[in-house]
Amino acid sequence: MPRPDLFARLAAAQAQRARDGLLRRLRTVESVAGPRIVVNGKSLIDFGSNDYLGLAQHPALRAALSRAVDRWGVGAGAAHLLGGHRDEHTALEEKLALWTGRESALLFSTGYMANLGVTGTLLRDGDVCVQDKLNHASLIDAARLSGAELVRYRHADVDSARQQLCTRPDAAAVLATDAVFSMDGDLAPLRELVVLCKRERATLMIDDAHGIGVLGPDGAGSVGEAGLAQDDAPVLMATLGKALGVAGAFVAGSAALIDGLIQFARPFVYTTAMPPALAAAASAAVDIARNDRERRDHLHRLIAQFRGGAAQRGIALLPSSTPIQPVPVGDSATALAIAQRLENAGFYLPAIRPPSVPASAARLRVSLSAAHAEDDIERLLAALAAALAAEPR
Ligand SMILES: *Cc1c(COP(=O)(O)O)cnc(C)c1O
Repeated sequence: MPRPDLFARLAAAQAQRARDGLLRRLRTVESVAGPRIVVNGKSLIDFGSNDYLGLAQHPALRAALSRAVDRWGVGAGAAHLLGGHRDEHTALEEKLALWTGRESALLFSTGYMANLGVTGTLLRDGDVCVQDKLNHASLIDAARLSGAELVRYRHADVDSARQQLCTRPDAAAVLATDAVFSMDGDLAPLRELVVLCKRERATLMIDDAHGIGVLGPDGAGSVGEAGLAQDDAPVLMATLGKALGVAGAFVAGSAALIDGLIQFARPFVYTTAMPPALAAAASAAVDIARNDRERRDHLHRLIAQFRGGAAQRGIALLPSSTPIQPVPVGDSATALAIAQRLENAGFYLPAIRPPSVPASAARLRVSLSAAHAEDDIERLLAALAAALAAEPR
């Protein structure tokens, strides 16, 4: 057998994806103003962004960023342990720990890397990592890379999680879950998972990428909303690139956890530090997310408005109380056709297809933001109803 040609194999995989109607398309946004984007010269209301609080363009973040650039320049120039760590990083870490009610916090360049860092530090061969079936790809990859055995339980099903844990009663175990599921918008049964993990002596790891800034009385996320102390949820990961409008991520927990990550988390140790100006911008974002209650209240009013309007128009939604409001449509071709119709009507919302979601669970993923106005929601509802009605049954 001759050695396989990798590019031929890649081309075959690509051709198969095209036949399945699952090819992804990279599109360039030409400009942004509030919730409006311009793509291909056409102005669209953006319902695809995770900028849930509308902070990515906020003047306070822009000002913090440019002040820090004036002070530090752009790049950190080195890894955190080799001279790249600045007081902007330390200040943000302290602020994040205080906000989430944890002893300590550590910045990572992305949420993907933070998840790899945690499991790589805590888990090893022979351990087990128990995960919700709908967890984010980065958690799945993180478990695989750690060397632990990855076992998955039925979505949001605590009994199934218990059964999976009990198949390996002697193994060191992490139970990892998205707190808000990124493609469904529903919430993990966190309080029940806390009880299960305590009883089974498993370590609970919560990925709150979509809850931070959005949930909880002062925006501290799912752990704030569910009232979970550090002892209940010892490993908290959340990102700075969604509701906080910047980029990057952090892990929060005990000082012992954070000290361990500084020693052993390879995606922390072997990478260039986040630019200090991004830390400064994220710090300004946390101040707003904590204190600007009206911004969060406006977002939650829009969520209620969208769900109420969808019910009136007979548009089926998934059971979500978060800014992620998927409209299930079934197969990929239908999702693409409806997304195109909505784009023609002036709305950008992405069709989410396998492998991001299970087969025949294609959907339009509506993301709501405090940057939207009530009128944007009304117009989206009317356009959605028309686009769905145009679909042959
Ligand atoms: C977006 C996301 C991540 C990855 O975060 P990045 O900072 O974008 O790499 C991790 N987990 C979940 C649940 C996410 O939605």
